Amino acid sequence: MMVHLLIELRFNLSTAFHSTGNFRRWGVDKALARDAEGRQVIPATTVKGFLRERAEILLRAWGHAVCLGPEPANMCDGRTPCLVCQVFGNPRFPSPLHFADGVPLIEVSTTVRSGVAISRHRRAAYPQRLFFIETTEPMPTRWQAQCEGDFPDKNEAQKAAALIAMAARWGTAIGGGKTRGLGWIKDVRVKAVLNGAEIPEQDLVPIWQAWKEGKNVAEN
Ligand SMILES: [Zn+2]
Repeated sequence: MMVHLLIELRFNLSTAFHSTGNFRRWGVDKALARDAEGRQVIPATTVKGFLRERAEILLRAWGHAVCLGPEPANMCDGRTPCLVCQVFGNPRFPSPLHFADGVPLIEVSTTVRSGVAISRHRRAAYPQRLFFIETTEPMPTRWQAQCEGDFPDKNEAQKAAALIAMAARWGTAIGGGKTRGLGWIKDVRVKAVLNGAEIPEQDLVPIWQAWKEGKNVAEN
């Protein structure tokens, strides 16, 4: 019987955040991503990409053979997906988890910053271009993001919960403004609920411990 896993993440962004959306705003080159109600959101793909990257780095540091995204050519095949692909999926193996956009828990005000785009082609004499970017106000904001999905058994679901919680807590910058030093994630709270019951932390600790020692709990 399939089991249902719901993971809720709550976190602070301690500085201004920018993630470019499709939304056009007059006078702004890059507007923040927003939902249908006009609320600023952290796109689901940003949340998922952030967690996946952290999971990849941590597991590789502990000696696990996990593939490095996002190039599909570097990813494992669908028959024997690695630990990261089992949870986050890849082009040949769909993720069991569906991620939702991150939404602010408080009203978030935004501001427009200006900057100068510097050409990557150093030798080319391209003129530097002034651009405008919409970001959240430079003050802490609290957000909620979640993902959920069905797993074939309790062990698989717990492993997914352990991987997401581990990646979430190992916080660093999130969003498109990463290289500009925007949007540091802090005070992450992770709540994983399996078939309606919260997974106690002591159930996740042995999984983290095994991973740290380079063991794959899937084989236990
Ligand atoms: Zn993989």
